[in-house]
Amino acid sequence: MASQSSAHGSVFSNQTGFNALESNVPGLGGVILDQLNMKDYGEYREAVEGKTKIISFKNYKEMFQKMEETFKFCARCSKLPHNLSGAETLKRCGKCLNVYYCSKACQMADWPDHKKACKKLRLVAIDRLVEWLMFTGDLPVPTEPQWSRPAAEVGSWEAWLALQGGFDAALDGVLISPNMDTLWSNVERPRPEAADLRDAVWRVQSEFLSRVLTVVAALQRFGLDPRDKPLTIHLAGASLNESMGARLTDYDELNRAFPGHQGVEVVLVGPELVDSPVIRPPLKAIGPAERVYISAYKGLYHNFWEELVETEKAARPDLVVGFHPGFHANPGLLEGWMPTLLLLSDYNIPTFFSMFSDAELQASLGILHDMEIKVLASGPSPFSSHKPEMVQSCPNKPLVYCNSCFICYQGMLGSATS
Ligand SMILES: [Zn+2]
Ligand SMILES: [Zn+2]
Repeated sequence: MASQSSAHGSVFSNQTGFNALESNVPGLGGVILDQLNMKDYGEYREAVEGKTKIISFKNYKEMFQKMEETFKFCARCSKLPHNLSGAETLKRCGKCLNVYYCSKACQMADWPDHKKACKKLRLVAIDRLVEWLMFTGDLPVPTEPQWSRPAAEVGSWEAWLALQGGFDAALDGVLISPNMDTLWSNVERPRPEAADLRDAVWRVQSEFLSRVLTVVAALQRFGLDPRDKPLTIHLAGASLNESMGARLTDYDELNRAFPGHQGVEVVLVGPELVDSPVIRPPLKAIGPAERVYISAYKGLYHNFWEELVETEKAARPDLVVGFHPGFHANPGLLEGWMPTLLLLSDYNIPTFFSMFSDAELQASLGILHDMEIKVLASGPSPFSSHKPEMVQSCPNKPLVYCNSCFICYQGMLGSATS
């Protein structure tokens, strides 16, 4: 079968992620690389970036097996399979089928922590398999061709779902797709009940939609409407997860939200972008009317600005959106983001960031406050993904959700905002 790098997209999307994983479960990074027949993180990067074709599996069974291997360590003492003594084996928690233990003693010691997470970790384990249907093309399912209400009135999932006629039937259709059968006949766990599977299909689809609907919400925040004028939207810090398997149609929901609009260009900008059809140069000016044109720049945002925006080789943004920029996470990431954060406020660009959790939101707000950036609003985001995310190497940590919180800002404190 073809190379299937996508299956490992979420394992560790950058060197920081890799280091975090290694410090939580020493040796786990090595196990993952081993499963992929790679010697180091650099080789992994080259493969996910499509420079080498190392990630390939004999068949689906092997692919899913190798994915599962990367979760095999004792959730209590972090012991990996090769550290076990002769009689020991890693046994999976029978409830969530997500975490492993080296012994009964470790499982019992972990239960007070794990019991808070176990129920949701069961969903996480199902979702990460169902996610494969994003790469087979079964997901996302199509949505209604046109919103029957103005975007300004569609401020929640509930309102969006009310616009969708055949959406439930389309989600149900995924349950009977041949790829769904292929999936469950090749993994080491029983096929969940139809209702559970249906919920998983929705959660995975909601993560995909949460990005474009978050962009719609950001446009509303700043009173921007592509029917009034063509818009350029930059996605600053677009990551490996957002660009792996990216399609030219990924932001077409904007066409449905703003029928007859004058043209929208979405430019993904980030150093971690991987090869996909959207990797093509940004437009100098306006794109075709009634269409969303996606392009990309591989590099840091402030470099993109200097190289292409300053020189008028790419249009100035009407809005900048960053999904989970993560500049709160460590000084290194903040250093990378600092010139971008300042540039966006200096040029008075409407800016919208999403976060995984309230804790991240608070930490990010603190940083922007110290920089005297003018925060206009922040809080829970209306189009949070429904798919829980776990920290692979710390499974009992509270689960988080993509795009669950937001901050929007424009300009500096004390300056007038246009
Ligand atoms: Zn253990
Ligand atoms: Zn469990």
